[in-house]
Amino acid sequence: MTLYGGIEAGGTKFVCGIGDETGQLLDVTRFPTTTPEETLGRALEYFGGQPALAALGVASFGPVDPHPASPTYGYITATTKPGWSQTDVAQRLGMALGTPVGFDTDVNGAALGEYRWGAAQGLDTFIYLTVGTGIGGGGMAGGRLLHGLLHPEMGHIPLPHDRVRDPFAGVCPFHGDCFEGLASGPAIEARWGARGETLPPDHPAWELEAHYLALGLCAYILTLSPERIIVGGGVAAQAGLLTKVREKVLEQLSGYVQHPALLGRMDSYIVPPTLGGEAGVRGALALAMAAAA
Ligand code: ZN
Repeated sequence: MTLYGGIEAGGTKFVCGIGDETGQLLDVTRFPTTTPEETLGRALEYFGGQPALAALGVASFGPVDPHPASPTYGYITATTKPGWSQTDVAQRLGMALGTPVGFDTDVNGAALGEYRWGAAQGLDTFIYLTVGTGIGGGGMAGGRLLHGLLHPEMGHIPLPHDRVRDPFAGVCPFHGDCFEGLASGPAIEARWGARGETLPPDHPAWELEAHYLALGLCAYILTLSPERIIVGGGVAAQAGLLTKVREKVLEQLSGYVQHPALLGRMDSYIVPPTLGGEAGVRGALALAMAAAA
């Protein structure tokens, strides 16, 4: 049996797993993200104790350098996470384990996992968005993961912000009231003085959150024309939120984008991830398989 390793390298935790060619996880371990030395050391310790791997995949928090021809390929670059700026992740792990390494953003990894085994099977242009501690988006256009200059930063697009309705200034350290600044988990907590999961479904927080998510999604629909949008992350898992988002997306598009996928079928157009909490690490396995191919 050919084995692959995957790492979902998150800002708060690392999830490391071993899987087979069908993408099934055979073993998984989780530990907190501390310093690069300690955290990458624990990952090496874990994979060192496993049977030989055909390849390793790393789906990492960012920003990252995803371009194989670049000298800093596989690095976490100018991150705000203390101690992690300019950290070589992929080259270092690959050298230590003696395996090829596939490396990409956490959201592109999750997008690839959903493409192989989940909600994006058979599609060639789609978006995977996560709404949680931050907001990040990845996906594919024409069957290729989105890269370009670096990689998309969909969570930091500017949104119309009515300061009469919502005087909150936003939490993004770079932009204040960008999408992430207005609609991430920390933005909800700072605006309402309580964590999102403690707010009841009829709290006005959710109407406003759905409004911002719909504005963001409409911008992506108008820009990339995705065939589906997968919305994951802790905030998006709030009961009833995606239903509100679907309604508001249709309202905001105002009938301008005409396609059967949007009319009466919004519940199969804006969807939660099929792989759920495993999307990240299984996406990393998919990156490993692509690296080995
Ligand atoms: Zn921002």
